[in-house]
Amino acid sequence: MTTSCAPKTLPLIEEAETTLASYWQTIESRCHTNTERVLRAFLNHGLDEMHFSSVTGYAHHDLGRHALDNIMAELAGAEAALVRVQFVSGTHAIGCALKGVLKPSDLLLAITGAPYDTLEGVIGKVRPGQTPSRQSLQAQGVRYAEMDIFADVPPSQRVRWTWTEEETALIQQANALFIQRSRGYSLRPTLSGEELKRLIAQIKQVNPEVVVVVDNCYGEFIDTEEPTQYGADLIAGSLIKNPGGGLAVAGGYIAGKSCYVEQAAEELTVPGVGSEGGYMFDLTRTLVQGLYFAPTVVKEALKSMSLFAAVFEQLGYTVYPTSQGPFNDIIQVIELGDPDKVLQFCKTLQQCSPVGAKLTPIPAVTPGYADPVVMAGGTFIFGSTIELSADAPMRPPYAVYIQGGLVYSHARFALSQILDTLLA
Ligand SMILES: *Cc1c(COP(=O)(O)O)cnc(C)c1O
Repeated sequence: MTTSCAPKTLPLIEEAETTLASYWQTIESRCHTNTERVLRAFLNHGLDEMHFSSVTGYAHHDLGRHALDNIMAELAGAEAALVRVQFVSGTHAIGCALKGVLKPSDLLLAITGAPYDTLEGVIGKVRPGQTPSRQSLQAQGVRYAEMDIFADVPPSQRVRWTWTEEETALIQQANALFIQRSRGYSLRPTLSGEELKRLIAQIKQVNPEVVVVVDNCYGEFIDTEEPTQYGADLIAGSLIKNPGGGLAVAGGYIAGKSCYVEQAAEELTVPGVGSEGGYMFDLTRTLVQGLYFAPTVVKEALKSMSLFAAVFEQLGYTVYPTSQGPFNDIIQVIELGDPDKVLQFCKTLQQCSPVGAKLTPIPAVTPGYADPVVMAGGTFIFGSTIELSADAPMRPPYAVYIQGGLVYSHARFALSQILDTLLA
């Protein structure tokens, strides 16, 4: 690792920073608004030192846990919320949200194509060689259907707003409708706030009864409103992404209509306990502090990802989204087009990480993926993707998915080192 930006790469970065200035003003102003929203929520719920020590045992009447739930509910503009370290991650929170609202013979309709890989088990999609689980939604009698509002849409249009007769019929029959906001690891666009708003309104027009559940992973604090403010009945996400602010050590959250939030809580614990129990392991302070940092951390991540986009675009690579945005989540895709470049990129990113910088990432077979995947991420919280990290399936077009960034200067430094090795 060289000690500073090589003279060759610094102008590239500085030029990109200039072209991004006006976009950065927009995210700066969103960060101001979101920080104000966080502080108001803390004030409105009387956040106080006393909330930071957890009640042990059953943990009934833990005032800190109640305050945290109420703060999250206010931030989501929702009736209720559940913020828990007992959620293993976002997948578990989304799973409880779905299981809470669906009963046997109900129809779950995913409208944004195949949901994120880790939800396959929850739904009951079985890959060859896998044993089906008795606990999946489908094994328990829930019917499942999929449609894709991104299919056959020109890039300029992004979302398909007209539905076939069959699709409209499916929406009419659905009991719960699942929307994944972020592209995750596909190449379709991430839904913007405006698109979500219009989509949910259109769905509710076709079926006012349907429970709209949004996988909000990577979406929190990108806008100054959350999907619950656009009519979503439930949203769920991971605390080791945006809303954890890089501080939350584990967990997930759910927010929405109080009846559905409580049903999800009964999935997480048991009926009769619901949201009223669960030790917080003295982590309430860390979780609220994470929320306090979250708008700033999301801003740093957005700045970091747009810098990668702009620089690699200048160098002639295909990037999603382009340097013009819209950046609706914190994932950036760069098509490097060459396996050696992918490995070099990931190796250098790892060398610039705060933790485990001495490790060398190598491609490995990963459950749920057809091809070996190389992952780089020397993160403080293991597996956290709000921290600067990258992964790449080792197959054409040899695209690297880079995400997060707690600190812009770190991402900028890592980029300069990556450029030094790639352009050498
Ligand atoms: C990360 C992610 C999930 C799953 O969250 P985990 O915390 O990894 O379990 C689900 N959906 C999307 C779109 C995600 O990005």
